[in-house]
Amino acid sequence: MNGKRLTDNGRQIEKIKEVIKGDLLINHPLKEYTSLKVGGPADVIVFPDGREDLIKIIRYLNEEQTPYLILGNGTNLLIGDRGVRDVVISLPPGFNRLELIEGNKSPLIFAEAGVSLVKLVKFCVDHSLSGFEFACGIPGTVGGGIVMNAGGRLGTFEDAIQSITILDHKGKLITQKKEELMFSYRNLQLPPRSIVLSAIFQLKKDNQSHIKRTIQEEMKKRKKTLPLEFPNAGSIFKNPEGKKAGRLIDQAGLKGTQIGGARVSDMHANIIVNSGDATANDVLCLIEEVKTRVYQKTGITLEPEIKIVGEN
Ligand SMILES: Cc1cc2nc3c(=O)[nH]c(=O)nc-3n(C[C@H](O)[C@H](O)[C@H](O)COP(=O)(O)OP(=O)(O)OC[C@H]3O[C@@H](n4cnc5c(N)ncnc54)[C@H](O)[C@@H]3O)c2cc1C
Repeated sequence: MNGKRLTDNGRQIEKIKEVIKGDLLINHPLKEYTSLKVGGPADVIVFPDGREDLIKIIRYLNEEQTPYLILGNGTNLLIGDRGVRDVVISLPPGFNRLELIEGNKSPLIFAEAGVSLVKLVKFCVDHSLSGFEFACGIPGTVGGGIVMNAGGRLGTFEDAIQSITILDHKGKLITQKKEELMFSYRNLQLPPRSIVLSAIFQLKKDNQSHIKRTIQEEMKKRKKTLPLEFPNAGSIFKNPEGKKAGRLIDQAGLKGTQIGGARVSDMHANIIVNSGDATANDVLCLIEEVKTRVYQKTGITLEPEIKIVGEN
């Protein structure tokens, strides 16, 4: 959005402080809010304490034509070294209601956007519900998972959704059923600047030990293939049609390639790890290097899956 930046006008910060009940922090480092652990500060980050609070903030920002950025668990985000000028709105730790609703045909779950997928998967296991085994080991939130249509071999969010409730940029609540939603590979098309607030998921009753076994097997596979000891943001690139991005990167001989503190993982070529002191610039340069080398070798242009935000 090409709106005014908040720093254009300190009055706005005072006004947001008046409007919201939740916390507000100024010039706050963002790297700790991302799994890659790089990036600069947010001019302002707010933590709305619930739906009403968020609606008030969004209506105010809309009136002022001030852009905003929604933060889930930051596990698919690369934040530039100079940080973010838009107002950052963190949904966790609020928005964490998770409830079982008894549907007519099958069990339903209501989940708010800030619920972590770890909590959601555990909830499903505890209630012997099948349908979210695919999300085990994905470190995001329900909101981030829906927006990214996150998933893997066993399924994606699209499979489990019954409906979602979003807040549009004017602060209006809209509920959309699955049939109205345009999911695609690692994407859900939403009206610009909408925020996913909650979802209802349709699941199946199943044998608890069967669900647990599926999850254990999946976790075993993930542990073998993911460089979990280093900060990372999961897959950097989307898989091109009919191909695996990781295999193309590996075939281009790029495993272990390092720029500054950013390195193409030796375990999984589609993951860039922060080996300790990486900057966002290191990661961005490595992304460009990988794209160029894969293009030179295969003629395929890789498209980033991670969201690159802020200033560098
Ligand atoms: C170790 C590791 C393993 C991973 N494995 C997988 C995997 O197997 N499959 C997979 O698909 N992904 C995987 N990921 C990537 C990531 O976890 C998912 O994309 C996840 O769904 C992102 O959720 P998040 O809450 O962290 O979103 P964030 O990273 O915080 O945000 C991602 C994007 O969604 C937007 N957003 C977040 N919440 C909302 C909301 N409520 N409303 C509107 N916009 C919102 C943000 O603005 C941003 O553009 C992995 C990541 C890591 C670090």
